[in-house]
Amino acid sequence: MRPTGKLHLGHLLGALKNWVALQDNYQCIFSIADWHALMGEYENSKELRSYGIDMVIDWISCGIDPDKSILYRQSDVPEHLELQMFLSCLTPLGWLERNPTYKEQLREITTRDLQTYAFLGYPVLQAADILLYKADAVPIGEDQLPHLELCREIGRRFNSIYKKEVFNDCRAILTETPRLLGLDNRKMSKSYGNTINLSDTEKEVDTKVVSMITDPKRLRKTDPGHPEECNVYSYYQVFAPQEAPAAHEWCSQALKGCVDCKKNLSVHINKHLAPIRGKRVQLEKDKDRIEDILKEGAKKARVIAQQTMAEVREAVY
Ligand code: SF4
Repeated sequence: MRPTGKLHLGHLLGALKNWVALQDNYQCIFSIADWHALMGEYENSKELRSYGIDMVIDWISCGIDPDKSILYRQSDVPEHLELQMFLSCLTPLGWLERNPTYKEQLREITTRDLQTYAFLGYPVLQAADILLYKADAVPIGEDQLPHLELCREIGRRFNSIYKKEVFNDCRAILTETPRLLGLDNRKMSKSYGNTINLSDTEKEVDTKVVSMITDPKRLRKTDPGHPEECNVYSYYQVFAPQEAPAAHEWCSQALKGCVDCKKNLSVHINKHLAPIRGKRVQLEKDKDRIEDILKEGAKKARVIAQQTMAEVREAVY
């Protein structure tokens, strides 16, 4: 995960909950992808370190367990770059230029100049991240499938050129994640300023929830609403499923106004975030411990990475 700012509810539902569950069945490796972040944020690099620490605090607060899994900072394991170099040599330019995410990001991100050599090669570093640990599986969303396919292609091409089965095919663990839009009904994203962050206080959550866009057809309290068309209702389905039928009723029969409906939702979201917040407060007091966890994680990660790199060098030379 790239350290680009505070984690929000979208991260919690889209990634962290799944990661926490995976820890029971897999040896998991979670990386602060700070070199990936640098590729897009090279002009705002100063905050990447502190964002990384904050991100790990969020991870642990949500249940990622450093005793079960390896947590480390990508830039503490230089083998990522070494493998990226080997893989760059054999990755055809056309594979990278055709990458749909690359084209989309160049089109959509206008605040930064991403017409760089590194950004084009982003999927090669991603492939190195996966192949370095000979990962069996990566938990990803469907939109990331082309990147994983590219990773497999690169690994196969390496094996074929050097006639050695160094890399295995890695499979995707696709997880169903509930769709949660931002406060303004757009995709939840820091750049839209429409997030509810895991580190928000109760009051901040209250204020944000009150600002959520509701069913535009419900103009007055006495107008029956259309819960299926209201983002607030979709939050009920995720954070208070037991109360969703009641919310459906009071909305569609105009029994309750939107302000009360949102206030009630706030209570549920805050209940959900309370244990995460509690753990966060403890961890924030001891950032040295987080650094120690990352150092320890990098040590473990390097043992695997160095073994792979020895095989890579032997295959190439
Ligand atoms: Fe949305 Fe609740 Fe208002 Fe219905 S009552 S429109 S679900 S905020």
